[in-house]
Amino acid sequence: MTDLVRDPAVLPLADGFGRVHSDLRVSVTDRCNLRCTYCMPAEGLDWLPRAELLTFEELTRIVRVAVDLGVRTVRLTGGEPLLRRGLPDLVAQLAALTPRPQLAMTTNGLGLDRLAGPLADAGLDRVNVSLDTVDREAFHRLTRRDRLPDVVRGLEAAAAAGLHPVKVNAVAMRGVNDEHVADLLDWCLQRGYQLRLIEQMPLDAQHAWQRDAMVTQAEILERLSERFTLSTPPGQRGSAPAETWLVDGGPATVGVVASVSQPFCGSCDRLRLTADGQLRSCLFARDEDDLRGPLRSGVDDETLAVLVRRLVSSKRAGHGIDDPSFLQPQRPMSAIGG
Ligand code: SAM
Ligand code: SF4
Repeated sequence: MTDLVRDPAVLPLADGFGRVHSDLRVSVTDRCNLRCTYCMPAEGLDWLPRAELLTFEELTRIVRVAVDLGVRTVRLTGGEPLLRRGLPDLVAQLAALTPRPQLAMTTNGLGLDRLAGPLADAGLDRVNVSLDTVDREAFHRLTRRDRLPDVVRGLEAAAAAGLHPVKVNAVAMRGVNDEHVADLLDWCLQRGYQLRLIEQMPLDAQHAWQRDAMVTQAEILERLSERFTLSTPPGQRGSAPAETWLVDGGPATVGVVASVSQPFCGSCDRLRLTADGQLRSCLFARDEDDLRGPLRSGVDDETLAVLVRRLVSSKRAGHGIDDPSFLQPQRPMSAIGG
Protein backbone atom coordinates (compact mmCIF):
# COMPACT_ATOMS: atom_id res chain seq x y z
CA MET A 1 0.00 0.00 0.00
CA THR A 2 2.71 2.46 1.04
CA ASP A 3 4.74 1.88 -2.14
CA LEU A 4 1.72 2.30 -4.36
CA VAL A 5 0.81 5.58 -2.72
CA ARG A 6 4.27 7.10 -2.53
CA ASP A 7 6.87 5.44 -4.76
CA PRO A 8 7.11 7.25 -8.14
CA ALA A 9 8.79 4.19 -9.64
CA VAL A 10 5.60 2.25 -8.91
CA LEU A 11 3.13 4.99 -9.76
CA PRO A 12 4.29 8.31 -11.24
CA LEU A 13 2.57 11.51 -10.11
CA ALA A 14 0.53 11.66 -13.30
CA ASP A 15 -2.77 13.30 -14.11
CA GLY A 16 -5.56 11.98 -16.31
CA PHE A 17 -3.73 13.21 -19.43
CA GLY A 18 -0.49 11.39 -18.63
CA ARG A 19 1.41 14.52 -17.53
CA VAL A 20 3.90 13.55 -14.84
CA HIS A 21 4.43 16.22 -12.17
CA SER A 22 7.94 16.96 -10.95
CA ASP A 23 7.90 20.72 -10.23
CA LEU A 24 6.37 22.28 -7.10
CA ARG A 25 6.03 26.05 -6.68
CA VAL A 26 5.84 26.96 -3.01
CA SER A 27 4.52 30.35 -1.97
CA VAL A 28 5.94 31.37 1.39
CA THR A 29 3.96 34.59 1.83
CA ASP A 30 1.27 36.60 0.05
CA ARG A 31 2.82 39.90 1.20
CA CYS A 32 4.81 42.12 -1.08
CA ASN A 33 6.83 45.34 -0.96
CA LEU A 34 6.08 46.29 -4.57
CA ARG A 35 2.69 46.85 -6.20
CA CYS A 36 3.16 45.81 -9.82
CA THR A 37 0.09 46.95 -11.73
CA TYR A 38 -0.34 43.56 -13.47
CA CYS A 39 -0.40 41.80 -10.10
CA MET A 40 -1.62 43.89 -7.18
CA PRO A 41 -3.87 46.91 -6.60
CA ALA A 42 -2.24 50.12 -5.31
CA GLU A 43 -3.72 49.36 -1.89
CA GLY A 44 -6.50 47.44 -0.21
CA LEU A 45 -5.45 43.81 -0.55
CA ASP A 46 -5.86 41.92 2.74
CA TRP A 47 -2.96 39.72 3.88
CA LEU A 48 -3.45 36.18 5.09
CA PRO A 49 -3.62 36.00 8.90
CA ARG A 50 -0.28 34.81 10.29
CA ALA A 51 -1.82 31.74 11.95
CA GLU A 52 -2.94 30.52 8.52
CA LEU A 53 0.57 30.53 7.06
CA LEU A 54 2.31 27.18 7.01
CA THR A 55 5.31 27.04 9.32
CA PHE A 56 8.67 26.01 7.86
CA GLU A 57 8.23 22.57 9.43
CA GLU A 58 4.80 22.18 7.83
CA LEU A 59 6.09 23.40 4.46
CA THR A 60 9.04 21.03 4.60
CA ARG A 61 6.80 18.10 5.49
CA ILE A 62 4.55 18.70 2.48
CA VAL A 63 7.56 19.13 0.21
CA ARG A 64 9.01 15.89 1.59
CA VAL A 65 5.82 14.04 0.70
CA ALA A 66 5.91 15.63 -2.77
CA VAL A 67 9.55 14.64 -3.22
CA ASP A 68 8.65 11.07 -2.23
CA LEU A 69 6.03 11.23 -5.01
CA GLY A 70 8.54 12.35 -7.64
CA VAL A 71 8.86 16.14 -7.33
CA ARG A 72 12.43 17.11 -8.26
CA THR A 73 12.35 20.92 -8.46
CA VAL A 74 11.02 23.25 -5.79
CA ARG A 75 10.65 26.95 -6.52
CA LEU A 76 10.05 29.39 -3.66
CA THR A 77 7.84 32.31 -4.55
CA GLY A 78 5.10 34.57 -3.20
CA GLY A 79 4.10 37.43 -2.77
CA GLU A 80 7.68 38.39 -2.18
CA PRO A 81 9.51 35.36 -0.72
CA LEU A 82 12.36 37.44 0.72
CA LEU A 83 9.84 39.04 3.10
CA ARG A 84 9.44 35.72 4.90
CA ARG A 85 11.72 35.96 7.90
CA GLY A 86 14.41 33.28 8.20
CA LEU A 87 14.10 32.12 4.59
CA PRO A 88 17.64 30.60 4.53
CA ASP A 89 16.49 28.25 7.32
CA LEU A 90 13.68 26.95 5.12
CA VAL A 91 16.09 26.53 2.21
CA ALA A 92 18.44 24.53 4.45
CA GLN A 93 15.58 22.27 5.55
CA LEU A 94 14.55 21.65 1.93
CA ALA A 95 18.15 21.07 0.85
CA ALA A 96 18.41 18.31 3.48
CA LEU A 97 15.63 16.24 1.85
CA THR A 98 16.47 12.99 0.07
CA PRO A 99 16.66 12.99 -2.87
CA ARG A 100 17.67 16.63 -2.66
CA PRO A 101 15.39 18.67 -4.94
CA GLN A 102 16.74 21.45 -7.13
CA LEU A 103 15.95 24.67 -5.27
CA ALA A 104 15.03 27.84 -7.15
CA MET A 105 13.36 31.11 -6.19
CA THR A 106 11.39 33.82 -7.97
CA THR A 107 11.84 37.22 -6.33
CA ASN A 108 11.49 40.90 -7.05
CA GLY A 109 15.09 41.27 -5.87
CA LEU A 110 14.46 43.71 -2.99
CA GLY A 111 16.74 42.59 -0.16
CA LEU A 112 18.57 40.09 -2.33
CA ASP A 113 21.77 42.11 -1.96
CA ARG A 114 21.73 41.03 1.70
CA LEU A 115 20.24 37.55 1.33
CA ALA A 116 21.78 36.10 -1.85
CA GLY A 117 24.88 34.86 0.02
CA PRO A 118 23.05 33.26 2.98
CA LEU A 119 20.51 31.67 0.62
CA ALA A 120 23.23 30.22 -1.61
CA ASP A 121 25.08 28.94 1.46
CA ALA A 122 21.86 27.30 2.67
CA GLY A 123 21.47 25.44 -0.64
CA LEU A 124 19.52 27.66 -3.04
CA ASP A 125 20.62 26.75 -6.58
CA ARG A 126 19.28 29.51 -8.80
CA VAL A 127 17.11 32.56 -8.96
CA ASN A 128 14.72 34.44 -11.23
CA VAL A 129 14.53 38.15 -10.53
CA SER A 130 11.54 40.08 -11.84
CA LEU A 131 12.57 43.27 -13.59
CA ASP A 132 10.31 44.67 -16.27
CA THR A 133 12.31 47.73 -17.24
CA VAL A 134 15.63 49.40 -16.46
CA ASP A 135 14.12 52.85 -16.96
CA ARG A 136 13.80 54.17 -13.42
CA GLU A 137 10.73 56.28 -14.08
CA ALA A 138 8.92 53.44 -15.91
CA PHE A 139 9.90 51.04 -13.11
CA HIS A 140 8.40 53.41 -10.56
CA ARG A 141 5.17 53.72 -12.53
CA LEU A 142 4.86 49.98 -13.06
CA THR A 143 5.70 48.84 -9.53
CA ARG A 144 4.41 51.99 -7.79
CA ARG A 145 7.72 52.11 -5.90
CA ASP A 146 11.01 53.88 -6.75
CA ARG A 147 13.22 50.84 -6.05
CA LEU A 148 15.06 50.08 -9.31
CA PRO A 149 18.57 50.54 -7.79
CA ASP A 150 17.76 47.96 -5.08
CA VAL A 151 16.75 45.38 -7.69
CA VAL A 152 19.93 46.00 -9.68
CA ARG A 153 22.00 45.49 -6.52
CA GLY A 154 20.06 42.30 -5.80
CA LEU A 155 20.84 40.92 -9.24
CA GLU A 156 24.53 41.71 -8.83
CA ALA A 157 24.56 39.92 -5.47
CA ALA A 158 22.80 36.87 -6.94
CA ALA A 159 25.45 36.57 -9.64
CA ALA A 160 28.25 37.08 -7.12
CA ALA A 161 26.76 34.36 -4.88
CA GLY A 162 26.78 31.90 -7.79
CA LEU A 163 23.00 31.55 -8.13
CA HIS A 164 23.40 30.67 -11.81
CA PRO A 165 21.88 31.01 -14.23
CA VAL A 166 20.56 34.38 -13.04
CA LYS A 167 17.33 34.87 -14.94
CA VAL A 168 15.38 38.09 -15.36
CA ASN A 169 11.59 37.85 -15.70
CA ALA A 170 9.81 40.71 -17.46
CA VAL A 171 6.09 40.96 -18.14
CA ALA A 172 5.55 42.76 -21.45
CA MET A 173 3.15 45.64 -20.94
CA ARG A 174 1.74 47.83 -23.69
CA GLY A 175 2.81 51.45 -23.41
CA VAL A 176 5.08 50.67 -20.46
CA ASN A 177 7.98 48.49 -21.60
CA ASP A 178 6.90 46.88 -24.89
CA GLU A 179 8.87 49.35 -26.99
CA HIS A 180 12.00 48.76 -24.90
CA VAL A 181 12.27 44.97 -24.75
CA ALA A 182 15.38 45.07 -26.97
CA ASP A 183 17.02 47.58 -24.57
CA LEU A 184 16.24 45.26 -21.67
CA LEU A 185 17.73 42.29 -23.55
CA ASP A 186 20.83 44.34 -24.30
CA TRP A 187 21.14 45.28 -20.61
CA CYS A 188 20.79 41.62 -19.54
CA LEU A 189 23.26 40.36 -22.16
CA GLN A 190 25.89 42.82 -20.98
CA ARG A 191 25.59 41.43 -17.45
CA GLY A 192 25.22 37.74 -18.29
CA TYR A 193 21.59 37.49 -17.15
CA GLN A 194 19.09 35.37 -19.09
CA LEU A 195 16.02 37.40 -20.02
CA ARG A 196 12.58 35.80 -20.19
CA LEU A 197 9.73 37.95 -21.45
CA ILE A 198 6.29 36.96 -20.22
CA GLU A 199 2.88 37.52 -21.75
CA GLN A 200 0.59 39.20 -19.25
CA MET A 201 -1.98 36.80 -17.83
CA PRO A 202 -5.42 37.46 -16.30
CA LEU A 203 -4.24 37.14 -12.71
CA ASP A 204 -4.28 40.73 -11.48
CA ALA A 205 -6.17 41.46 -8.29
CA GLN A 206 -8.11 44.24 -10.05
CA HIS A 207 -9.37 41.92 -12.85
CA ALA A 208 -8.38 44.56 -15.41
CA TRP A 209 -6.61 42.23 -17.90
CA GLN A 210 -7.77 42.53 -21.49
CA ARG A 211 -6.88 40.02 -24.20
CA ASP A 212 -6.73 42.70 -26.90
CA ALA A 213 -4.29 44.87 -24.95
CA MET A 214 -1.89 42.01 -24.22
CA VAL A 215 1.55 42.13 -25.86
CA THR A 216 1.90 38.79 -27.64
CA GLN A 217 4.94 36.61 -28.22
CA ALA A 218 4.76 37.53 -31.93
CA GLU A 219 5.06 41.23 -31.09
CA ILE A 220 7.87 40.61 -28.63
CA LEU A 221 9.85 38.63 -31.21
CA GLU A 222 9.26 41.31 -33.81
CA ARG A 223 10.65 44.00 -31.49
CA LEU A 224 13.68 41.89 -30.54
CA SER A 225 14.38 41.03 -34.18
CA GLU A 226 14.75 44.71 -35.01
CA ARG A 227 18.06 44.60 -33.14
CA PHE A 228 19.06 40.95 -32.72
CA THR A 229 19.15 37.84 -34.87
CA LEU A 230 17.14 35.12 -33.17
CA SER A 231 17.47 31.45 -34.10
CA THR A 232 16.04 28.24 -32.75
CA PRO A 233 18.46 26.34 -30.51
CA PRO A 234 19.01 22.62 -30.97
CA GLY A 235 17.36 20.28 -28.47
CA GLN A 236 13.97 19.83 -26.93
CA ARG A 237 12.01 22.41 -24.95
CA GLY A 238 10.58 19.76 -22.61
CA SER A 239 8.21 21.10 -19.96
CA ALA A 240 9.87 24.55 -19.70
CA PRO A 241 7.36 27.42 -19.76
CA ALA A 242 9.75 29.56 -21.82
CA GLU A 243 10.50 28.90 -25.46
CA THR A 244 14.08 30.02 -26.02
CA TRP A 245 16.00 31.50 -28.93
CA LEU A 246 19.72 31.91 -29.48
CA VAL A 247 20.68 35.57 -29.67
CA ASP A 248 23.04 36.47 -32.54
CA GLY A 249 24.09 32.84 -32.91
CA GLY A 250 24.45 32.19 -29.15
CA PRO A 251 25.52 31.11 -26.67
CA ALA A 252 23.31 33.80 -25.08
CA THR A 253 19.59 33.07 -25.20
CA VAL A 254 16.32 34.88 -24.68
CA GLY A 255 13.08 33.22 -23.65
CA VAL A 256 9.43 34.06 -24.12
CA VAL A 257 6.71 32.64 -21.88
CA ALA A 258 3.68 32.75 -24.17
CA SER A 259 1.14 31.30 -21.75
CA VAL A 260 -1.77 32.98 -23.51
CA SER A 261 -1.00 33.01 -27.26
CA GLN A 262 0.90 29.69 -27.33
CA PRO A 263 -0.29 27.74 -24.29
CA PHE A 264 2.02 24.94 -23.16
CA CYS A 265 -0.49 23.20 -20.88
CA GLY A 266 0.04 19.90 -22.75
CA SER A 267 3.48 19.48 -21.20
CA CYS A 268 2.81 21.12 -17.82
CA ASP A 269 4.55 19.37 -14.92
CA ARG A 270 3.80 21.96 -12.23
CA LEU A 271 1.90 22.02 -8.95
CA ARG A 272 1.47 24.96 -6.60
CA LEU A 273 1.25 25.22 -2.85
CA THR A 274 -0.09 28.49 -1.45
CA ALA A 275 1.33 30.08 1.69
CA ASP A 276 -1.78 28.96 3.60
CA GLY A 277 -1.39 25.36 2.57
CA GLN A 278 -3.75 25.00 -0.37
CA LEU A 279 -2.54 22.77 -3.18
CA ARG A 280 -3.38 23.90 -6.74
CA SER A 281 -2.95 22.01 -9.99
CA CYS A 282 -2.76 25.18 -12.12
CA LEU A 283 -2.35 28.96 -11.80
CA PHE A 284 -5.85 29.21 -13.21
CA ALA A 285 -7.46 26.41 -11.17
CA ARG A 286 -10.82 27.32 -9.64
CA ASP A 287 -10.46 24.61 -7.01
CA GLU A 288 -7.72 23.89 -4.52
CA ASP A 289 -7.19 21.13 -1.97
CA ASP A 290 -6.64 22.03 1.65
CA LEU A 291 -3.52 20.35 3.03
CA ARG A 292 -3.16 22.59 6.10
CA GLY A 293 -6.33 21.32 7.82
CA PRO A 294 -5.44 17.62 7.51
CA LEU A 295 -1.80 18.39 8.38
CA ARG A 296 -2.78 20.21 11.57
CA SER A 297 -5.29 17.54 12.51
CA GLY A 298 -2.45 15.01 12.60
CA VAL A 299 -2.83 12.90 9.45
CA ASP A 300 0.11 10.70 8.41
CA ASP A 301 2.28 11.11 5.31
CA GLU A 302 0.38 8.42 3.41
CA THR A 303 -2.83 10.40 3.77
CA LEU A 304 -1.10 13.58 2.57
CA ALA A 305 0.28 11.63 -0.40
CA VAL A 306 -3.23 10.43 -1.28
CA LEU A 307 -4.48 14.04 -1.16
CA VAL A 308 -1.66 15.18 -3.48
CA ARG A 309 -2.39 12.38 -5.94
CA ARG A 310 -6.11 13.15 -5.87
CA LEU A 311 -5.48 16.81 -6.69
CA VAL A 312 -3.13 15.91 -9.54
CA SER A 313 -5.59 13.44 -11.01
CA SER A 314 -8.26 16.15 -11.15
CA LYS A 315 -6.08 18.56 -13.18
CA ARG A 316 -7.79 19.99 -16.23
CA ALA A 317 -6.34 19.72 -19.73
CA GLY A 318 -5.62 23.44 -20.03
CA HIS A 319 -6.16 26.89 -18.58
CA GLY A 320 -8.96 27.72 -20.99
CA ILE A 321 -8.24 31.47 -21.09
CA ASP A 322 -9.71 31.67 -24.59
CA ASP A 323 -12.87 29.73 -23.68
CA PRO A 324 -16.00 31.89 -23.45
CA SER A 325 -16.66 30.29 -20.06
CA PHE A 326 -13.22 31.26 -18.65
CA LEU A 327 -13.34 32.77 -15.18
CA GLN A 328 -10.31 34.34 -13.57
CA PRO A 329 -9.34 32.56 -10.33
CA GLN A 330 -10.45 34.30 -7.16
CA ARG A 331 -6.94 34.45 -5.73
CA PRO A 332 -4.70 37.05 -7.37
CA MET A 333 -1.23 35.98 -8.55
CA SER A 334 0.39 37.34 -5.38
CA ALA A 335 -1.67 34.94 -3.25
CA ILE A 336 -1.14 31.92 -5.52
CA GLY A 337 2.58 32.09 -6.15
CA GLY A 338 3.88 32.74 -9.66
N1 SAM B 1 7.35 38.81 -5.98
C1 SAM B 1 8.11 37.88 -6.74
C2 SAM B 1 8.43 38.41 -8.12
O1 SAM B 1 7.84 39.40 -8.52
O2 SAM B 1 9.25 37.80 -8.78
C3 SAM B 1 7.48 36.50 -6.85
C4 SAM B 1 6.01 36.43 -7.07
S1 SAM B 1 5.45 37.04 -8.64
C5 SAM B 1 3.73 36.77 -8.49
C6 SAM B 1 6.07 35.79 -9.72
C7 SAM B 1 6.14 36.16 -11.18
O3 SAM B 1 4.83 36.34 -11.66
C8 SAM B 1 6.89 37.44 -11.47
O4 SAM B 1 7.89 37.20 -12.43
C9 SAM B 1 5.83 38.35 -12.03
O5 SAM B 1 6.36 39.21 -13.00
C10 SAM B 1 4.85 37.37 -12.61
N2 SAM B 1 3.50 37.90 -12.74
C11 SAM B 1 2.76 38.52 -11.80
N3 SAM B 1 1.55 38.86 -12.30
C12 SAM B 1 1.54 38.44 -13.58
C13 SAM B 1 0.56 38.50 -14.63
N4 SAM B 1 -0.62 39.06 -14.46
N5 SAM B 1 0.90 37.96 -15.82
C14 SAM B 1 2.11 37.38 -16.02
N6 SAM B 1 3.06 37.29 -15.07
C15 SAM B 1 2.77 37.83 -13.87
FE1 SF4 C 1 4.93 41.82 -5.73
FE2 SF4 C 1 5.93 40.05 -7.44
FE3 SF4 C 1 3.34 40.79 -7.57
FE4 SF4 C 1 5.21 42.55 -8.24
S1 SF4 C 1 4.78 40.59 -9.29
S2 SF4 C 1 3.45 42.96 -6.91
S3 SF4 C 1 6.85 42.03 -6.91
S4 SF4 C 1 4.28 39.66 -5.97
